[in-house]
Amino acid sequence: MSLPQFKLLRPRALDEALSLLSAHSKNLRILAGGTDLIPSMQQTLFEPEYVLDIRHIAELKGIRQQQGSGVEIGALTTLTTIEQSALLRRRYPVLTEAALTVASPILRNMGTIGGNICLDTRCLWYNQSLTWRKGCGFCIKKDGDLCHVAPGGTKCWAAFSGDTPPALLCLNAEIEIVGPSGTRRIPLRDFYTGIGDNYRKLQPSELLTRVFLPEATADYRGVYRKLRIRGSIDYPLAGIAVVLKRWNGHIADARIGITAVNPAPMLIKGVRETLEGKAMNEALAEAVGDLAARTAKPLTTSALTPEYRREMIRVFTKRAVLAAASN
Ligand SMILES: Cc1cc2nc3c(=O)[nH]c(=O)nc-3n(C[C@H](O)[C@H](O)[C@H](O)COP(=O)(O)OP(=O)(O)OC[C@H]3O[C@@H](n4cnc5c(N)ncnc54)[C@H](O)[C@@H]3O)c2cc1C
Ligand code: SF4
Repeated sequence: MSLPQFKLLRPRALDEALSLLSAHSKNLRILAGGTDLIPSMQQTLFEPEYVLDIRHIAELKGIRQQQGSGVEIGALTTLTTIEQSALLRRRYPVLTEAALTVASPILRNMGTIGGNICLDTRCLWYNQSLTWRKGCGFCIKKDGDLCHVAPGGTKCWAAFSGDTPPALLCLNAEIEIVGPSGTRRIPLRDFYTGIGDNYRKLQPSELLTRVFLPEATADYRGVYRKLRIRGSIDYPLAGIAVVLKRWNGHIADARIGITAVNPAPMLIKGVRETLEGKAMNEALAEAVGDLAARTAKPLTTSALTPEYRREMIRVFTKRAVLAAASN
């Protein structure tokens, strides 16, 4: 499949990128690693007049420890750099585990953490060629007015399918967004809308620049588990991140995040209340598995059935919580 025509813009500094964004934001797409954007452009899901290639902005790359206040990760840091960081592996292992499962090694060499956070939502009826989508009469997310997943509805339910965001949510990560009206730093949990065709709170003239991992969630045990068709490369069809802190053999704090089963990655409510002050056992692991399965609302957006994906959220949650408590 060939790419549609576009004009390539290649800023070398953040200021330059921001002024190009302001000038062309109405018809522009940001390219970081391009591992999701380029295939989507080949499928004509996006046909921007301009592509802003931000890969050469050095200040947005790298992992920096902030004395006493956690770790800062530039949005252009590749998933391979994250996966190979001894600092992250030691202090935020859940992020290392999640990054390690994204796509394949070659795609992780290109793909960035910023691109993973900003990743477009996915659906069996949407991530297809133009011919395929035309044959189905298109859909609400692109060029049409009906939803094949929830016929009769007016909302898009495409699933957010990035692997690192549930891990980042568990770590209470924050993100920095820069735009014409300045810089804002927000909790990642406030970034997603839960609407499949308008899934993130990012203006066309804004750029995600940094990710912050707080000191308070460093050294938590962490586990990530993922359901996919081909273990070597596929997007998640259900994903689950667990972080947990123990004290005196009992759980002092815990969080669970899920992905690929809702239009946004989500934290599961009630996990800490269920586990706090207790020693882990099968019954407790099953109880939080039930909580996660109740929060997951998979629909027919992927090749596996919603029932199977929800059940796997329950099973993986139980296994992940037991593994996190024992390692
Ligand atoms: C075969 C295949 C398998 C894959 N499997 C997985 C998988 O298992 N798990 C997974 O999570 N992903 C998967 N991906 C998707 C992709 O490789 C990763 O999500 C990757 O992290 C995306 O990062 P990128 O830098 O390449 O993003 P890009 O493709 O460059 O961008 C993705 C989106 O984010 C926007 N964007 C990127 N950076 C910024 C920024 N700094 N500010 C604002 N907007 C930005 C872009 O405009 C675009 O909309 C797969 C892709 C392929 C082709
Ligand atoms: S959930 Fe419905 S509207 Fe959204 S991409 Fe799928 S078919 Fe289209």
